[in-house]
Amino acid sequence: MSFIELISRHVAYPLWDLKEHSVRLDEHRKLQRIQWLDPADIAELQLRRLQAVMEHAYRNVPFYRQNWPRDPLKYPLQSKAELRDFPVVEKHDLREHQSLFVSETVSRSDLIAAKTGGSTGVALEVLFDKRCQQQRNAAAMLSDSWAGWRPGMLKAALWGSPPVASTLRSKLRRYLHDRIFFLDTMNLNDDTMLAFHGELQRRKPRALFGHAHSLYELARFIDDAQLEPITIDAAVSTSMMLLPVHRKVVERVFRTNVTDRYGCEEVGLIASECEEHEGMHLNEAHVVVEFLNEQGEAHEEATPAAVVVSDLNNYGMPLIRYAVGDEAIPSDRSCECGRGLALIEKVVGRTADYLIKSDGSRVSGISMVEKTLTAIPGIEQLQIVQESYADFRLNLVPARDFNEETQRSLVAAVREVFGESAKVAIERLERLPKTARGKSRFAVCLIDEEQA
Ligand SMILES: [Zn+2]
Repeated sequence: MSFIELISRHVAYPLWDLKEHSVRLDEHRKLQRIQWLDPADIAELQLRRLQAVMEHAYRNVPFYRQNWPRDPLKYPLQSKAELRDFPVVEKHDLREHQSLFVSETVSRSDLIAAKTGGSTGVALEVLFDKRCQQQRNAAAMLSDSWAGWRPGMLKAALWGSPPVASTLRSKLRRYLHDRIFFLDTMNLNDDTMLAFHGELQRRKPRALFGHAHSLYELARFIDDAQLEPITIDAAVSTSMMLLPVHRKVVERVFRTNVTDRYGCEEVGLIASECEEHEGMHLNEAHVVVEFLNEQGEAHEEATPAAVVVSDLNNYGMPLIRYAVGDEAIPSDRSCECGRGLALIEKVVGRTADYLIKSDGSRVSGISMVEKTLTAIPGIEQLQIVQESYADFRLNLVPARDFNEETQRSLVAAVREVFGESAKVAIERLERLPKTARGKSRFAVCLIDEEQA
């Protein structure tokens, strides 16, 4: 361990919290303890925290006061299953009535805003208080530690438009505390990736963070250019699904296991893999996660179900029973690691990543991409854009062995699912298009279902 790493961990981290009056490290210690509790004790702790935030929400947040059937202070929750008596909050509720979700006890200027892109391209703004942000940082630290990162360890990150340290103060913070350097994924090309590979060799970071697609793109570039592989201790993939075929390449090039994790801007970290990499542990100290079937009832089977989250930290803009728009497969397994935190098998995808057949049935875009990538040689990356029930555009990054047969097989794969009349245009690209936040989508459906 380097001297600077020691100073960062034992001096800069605690000093930073002290200066900011931050609960981050305290919360991190709590989370370290909670993760090993029995499931029953974790459930009790969740219920207590849920009850507290719901009492606050009913008293101080107009949306809940107007829409909830009862006062949780008068009728306390006996179990989290009773959440089903309260309405689910949809994205459009937030978009249309944002101010009704803000607590009357805080000044808006004290809240931190996070914007999310949203599938429709309409931005959604979510606010949270400072303490909530510190708690979220603590949860990220816990998940980072499962990946093998420790405070003070130098890390490299692949982010879209990363923050620039321009003032002396921010430079000092970057040097002593954050210990991070970036590759801007909004500007990913052979030159920037080659330069970044050089920086990785020179600075030898022990941890690597990035969106799944970006990690894969960098790994593939290093591999294709036959550059020296880089040895990383802790690699963390965030923000979107990491396909098994992509994961293999990242793990080979960076000579490490990848820790996949799942969260969103609205509620922070929802789940993360531990050292076992067998499913993801729910961040149960911070969020209550429900799985609902299409009728809105509790879903217990190990099949995909809608993810509905209640945030236990955010008192500035409480989100109770918020439908995040993803589907995941719940699990009743316990993990080999011995942690008491419940597992999910995997995240199946965003509801928005579904394609639609003309009879109205849905096709998981991610599954289709995954299946195609595994079955058809010649493709590095693929994005399916559905323009109408019968019109498809495949944005495709070809591999070296791309040929006529690849094209024929692709057209056949789409027609197998969507019928023989499906028209398929194949667009060969150097890279997949990215959203404003630097992510790529697996599937984009342009059919407006309400119009259809
Ligand atoms: Zn585990």
